Amino acid sequence: SRPMDWENVLNEIDSIIQPSRGQGRVADYIPALATVDPMKFGLAVALGDGNVHTLGDADEYFSIQSISKVFTLSMVLRKVGDELWESVGREPSGSPFNSIVQLELEGGIPRNPLINAGAIVVTDHLVQQQGADATIAELIERMRTLASDSAIHVDQAVAYSESEAGSRNRALAYFLKSFGNLRSPVEETLKAYFSHCAIAMNCRQLARAALFLAFDGTDPISGIQMVSSKACRRVNAVMMTCGHYDNSGDFTYRIGLPGKSGVGGGILVVAPGNGAIAVWSPGLNEAGTSEVGSLALETLVRQTGWSVFV
Ligand code: GLN
Repeated sequence: SRPMDWENVLNEIDSIIQPSRGQGRVADYIPALATVDPMKFGLAVALGDGNVHTLGDADEYFSIQSISKVFTLSMVLRKVGDELWESVGREPSGSPFNSIVQLELEGGIPRNPLINAGAIVVTDHLVQQQGADATIAELIERMRTLASDSAIHVDQAVAYSESEAGSRNRALAYFLKSFGNLRSPVEETLKAYFSHCAIAMNCRQLARAALFLAFDGTDPISGIQMVSSKACRRVNAVMMTCGHYDNSGDFTYRIGLPGKSGVGGGILVVAPGNGAIAVWSPGLNEAGTSEVGSLALETLVRQTGWSVFV
């Protein structure tokens, strides 16, 4: 097959998104997110040969927020394995990211690991094994190694604000605890959860760090096995069905690839066998997925033919 003409692909994306820049609503539950310029747009495509193609503000740091849930899920499948599925399900919720209602109806078992309740359970397993600080240290260390960039860090101001504004997540955690589905002290688990939501990365680093998900669980550049190939398929399946909360069906309809949104405006997408894509634009739709980011991904998939349904 002919090599992809990346310059052409990126030019096409640029011309499609320009008229829409600034669309959507910037998250405002914490000051650090509310003050981000809605006109920002960055995109990075990391390929298996180590090349990274970028567009716009691809080197600017943003708060990865719920995209971190993909990395904690990978970590827990590596360390705890299939036992995880006794404490969290794998069905789309059809509900907002921070919804609590299903928890009572379903015995304290969150629908999936990518909604807040499920991600808190995932983080809690890691915290039970090694405590909050070591969990975050290991997570950051892995991201830095995969992205070959030691500048990846937790934005402590964001982590602090997450906790200050964290009544809903605190309620979810205590509710889980009341059902016996939280193993560690609530505040210890939340400390780790708020910290991984507050990781600051740019599109280039994020696409590089997720490349293992496109290549059977092993990073093609460093050769590091992050997860087994079976666990890799599981993570991608859960991203495909649950990665965008009550917008998951529409995202899959439009883009046809496993993805995960964050309220910082980032979206991480996996193109199995091809590469990983990170896009960032702060304006969100009702479900908390970047509007311009989705538009860019739709264009990229059309240009590359990377949808899994092709
Ligand atoms: N930190 C946010 C929360 O826990 C993350 C939500 C998101 O990115 N969807 O509510």
